[in-house]
Amino acid sequence: MISLFNRSTSYLFIVAILVVILSIIQLVVQFSSLTLLLLIMALFMALLVFSQEKNTKNALASNAADQHVENEVQDNDELESKVQERTLELNIALQELEEVNKELEEKNTLDDLTGLYNRRFYDQKILAEYRRSRRNLTPLSLVIIDIDHFKKVNDTYGHLAGDECLVVVAACIKSCLRRSADISCRYGGEEFCLILPETDSQGALALAEELRESIASCQVSYNNTIISLTISCGVSTYLQQKDVQAEHLFAAADQALYQAKHNGRNQVRQQDFVKASDS
Ligand code: GH3
Ligand code: MG
Ligand code: MG
Repeated sequence: MISLFNRSTSYLFIVAILVVILSIIQLVVQFSSLTLLLLIMALFMALLVFSQEKNTKNALASNAADQHVENEVQDNDELESKVQERTLELNIALQELEEVNKELEEKNTLDDLTGLYNRRFYDQKILAEYRRSRRNLTPLSLVIIDIDHFKKVNDTYGHLAGDECLVVVAACIKSCLRRSADISCRYGGEEFCLILPETDSQGALALAEELRESIASCQVSYNNTIISLTISCGVSTYLQQKDVQAEHLFAAADQALYQAKHNGRNQVRQQDFVKASDS
C-alpha cells in the first residue's frame, strides 16, 4: 500500500515538474499552440498514470480480500474435517466401550467354573419368566439339581477332582437342554437350576429324568481315576395358581429335592404348591 502510494506521488511529481518546466518555457519563449499541446499532453499523462495507479490499487485490494475469504473458507473446511474426524473417533470409542460393557455384563452373569449362568442371573430370570408365564398363561417349570454325596467325592478324590465333576455335570446339563428358551444356572456349590418356560410338569419330569440317567451313566475321568456320580432332582410347575409367587416355585422344587434325597437319592421328585404351603 505504502509503496504504491509512493510510486503514484512520484509520478505526479514528475508530471508536475514537467508542467512547471513547460510553464517556464512558456514564460521565456512566446506562448504558442505547441506549448499548449505539450501542456495538455502532460496533464493527460498525469491523469492516465493516476487512474492506472488507482486501478492497480483497487485490484490489489480486491485480490487481498478474495485471498482473505479463500483462507477463511479453507480454515473452516479444515476445522470441519477435524470436527468430523474427532466425532468419528468418539463414536468408535463409545462403540468399543459399549461392547466392553456388554461383555462385562455377560461375564457377570456367568459362573466361572462351569460356564453356566450364575445365581445372580437366576434371581433375575426366574422373576422375569414367572411374570411372562402369568401374563401369557403358559406353564413354567423349575428343576433343582443336587449332586449326591458330593462332599464324599471331594474328600475321596480331592477338591480339583470335585471341580472337574462339576464341569462334567454342567456339560451334561447343557447337552440335555434342547430348547433355546431353557436356562441352566449353577445356583451354588453342587446345586444347579433349570428354568423351563412353556414346559408343563410332565415335560419337566421327563427332562429331569433324562438328565439323571445321563449323569448316572457318565463316568468322570480325573488323573487316571474314574469317578461315578448321581444326582437328585426336585421339580415344580407354575400354572398361574392363585397366590403363588416366583419364590414359591423355588420352595416347592426344593421340597421335592428334599424328598428325593430322603427317598434314597439318584431320583426325580415333583412337588405341587398345596403340599409346599402345607409343610
Ligand atoms: P447330599 O447327597 O445330601 O447332597 O450330600 P452332599 O455331600 O452332596 O452335600 P453336602 O451339602 O453335605 O456337601 C456339598 C459339598 O459340595 C460340600 C462342598 O465341599 C462341595 N462343594 C461346593 N462347592 C464346590 C466347588 O465349587 N467345588 C468343589 N470341588 N466342591 C464344592
Ligand atoms: Mg447341596
Ligand atoms: Mg449334594
